Amino acid sequence: MSTPKFKNEPILDFSDKKNLSKIQKALEQVESKFGQEYPLIINGEKIHTDAKLKSINPSKKGQVVSVFQKATKELAEKAILEAIKVFNKWKNVPPKKRAKILFKAANIVRRRRFEINAWMISEVGKNYVEADADTAEAIDFLEFYGREILRYSKKQPLTKVKGEDNELVYIPLGAGVVIPPWNFPFAILVGMTSAAIVTGNTVVLKPSSDSPMMGWLFYEVMEEAGLPKGVLNFVPGSGSEVGDTLVSHPKTRFIAFTGSKEVGLHINQLAAQHQPGQFWIKRVIAEMGGKDSIIVDDEANLTDAVNGVVTSAFGFQGQKCSACSRAIVNEKVYDKFIDMLKEKVGQLKVGPAKENYPVGPVVSSNAYNSILSYIEIGKTEGRLIYGGNPCGDEGFYIEPTIIIDVEPNARISLEEIFGPVLAVLKAKDFNHALEIANNTEFGLTGSVYTTNKKKIKRAKEEFYVGNLYFNRKCTGALVGGHPFGGFNMSGTDSKAGGRDYLLLFMQAKLWSEKIN
Ligand code: NAD
Repeated sequence: MSTPKFKNEPILDFSDKKNLSKIQKALEQVESKFGQEYPLIINGEKIHTDAKLKSINPSKKGQVVSVFQKATKELAEKAILEAIKVFNKWKNVPPKKRAKILFKAANIVRRRRFEINAWMISEVGKNYVEADADTAEAIDFLEFYGREILRYSKKQPLTKVKGEDNELVYIPLGAGVVIPPWNFPFAILVGMTSAAIVTGNTVVLKPSSDSPMMGWLFYEVMEEAGLPKGVLNFVPGSGSEVGDTLVSHPKTRFIAFTGSKEVGLHINQLAAQHQPGQFWIKRVIAEMGGKDSIIVDDEANLTDAVNGVVTSAFGFQGQKCSACSRAIVNEKVYDKFIDMLKEKVGQLKVGPAKENYPVGPVVSSNAYNSILSYIEIGKTEGRLIYGGNPCGDEGFYIEPTIIIDVEPNARISLEEIFGPVLAVLKAKDFNHALEIANNTEFGLTGSVYTTNKKKIKRAKEEFYVGNLYFNRKCTGALVGGHPFGGFNMSGTDSKAGGRDYLLLFMQAKLWSEKIN
């Protein structure tokens, strides 16, 4: 039977009472499991260490969600060596069989959807719809990459050479390391890991210390889907200690990383250093930070623009690499835009993720302190017109914050804050707006609100970002429809969820046979 065409998984509607009651029940069930301990897994072996890593509920910071093991350097090394051993078998498993495991995993995630959402709401503070969109994206990655490997395993077109029989095939790389961030704690982790596995590689997965539970859940899903032991190894631990060991190991063939610019550059540098006994140049896929702008032109529908800016800036508390952190507004509509913006943001209430507030907590005390210190910087660089304060000390809550009259070269205009803080900048005209939009070292997403087709054409040519949108928000890329990845310091433009992505986890081999 042929595989049905890929289509995106619809997101659940929580105004439907049935869905609402299911998520509330799942939250209660998950809460009854808070504080439980989970092992790390190397080649199927469950291992406990002396040092532990606790994941915390950011909505209620005294609450320990789960307890994990903290891998040592020795265990990290063991994980890579075991992954190599298993690679030698896994690489021979036919692509069809590998794809089948991903399709099965997608169905298991569908079955466990409310539970996965509930863990995510508890562990990183997403509201219901943000959590469900994350889980739906994970399902999309499994379905999409399963189909993609089937495409890559078909006969590849080559120019006919007389007297020869030629063929090109894609083969896996080896044992690699997957290092995801906490902000799309399921989708990105599942996407990077499943791409690596379905192409025939084995993986050591080091989850983010802020969201290890999401990595554990994926491990369980893949085990149930029939993934042989040792193909996926689950190794939580300190980024600097375990991460560095995994990245620099001579047997590590590739590193798939998504996270900050600083860590991405560090990994890239470390991976480039040749180690004794290393046979290859390590491949690094590094998707990094963003400082994303929305241009609001004078020829724009301002209501749409305000809605797009607010959703992009404050959805999941601005903790998306694609979040709008700068609104660049034409001076002719600047004052009106700000009045409308303030009114709209005033409707956003802050509170616990479990109660589904539009704005929940930020993920950790580190994030909380860093964002608050950027707000202090922002107060000296522009005019704070909304928010700016922490709220309540039960969790890491910060008001949605708007700072206007920010100069293009101000720190809050150039540096990634990764929180609910929006800088508003005034542009003289469209040229000026484009010039400001391109003035950071990042190049991930951007959006332009205008009804002028000529300006859209210009932005297509000149707005230098990997994902550019028109008259819509700059967040919410869909697998298949909006392959995702950025330019410059936003990373290697891997275009996750696109047709080029699996190539990054494979190498092409050509054979040519003389025939008479
Ligand atoms: P981070 O860089 O702090 O951490 C990312 C991962 O790297 C975590 O798993 C962490 O434990 C690990 N790590 C830390 N130090 C390490 C080391 N020395 N060696 C190996 N691994 C190490 O980022 P974060 O706070 O988890 O995520 C937020 C960042 O991710 C933001 O900058 C955001 O823009 C970016 N992001 C980018 C994309 C994208 O597609 N471009 C998507 C999501 C998030």
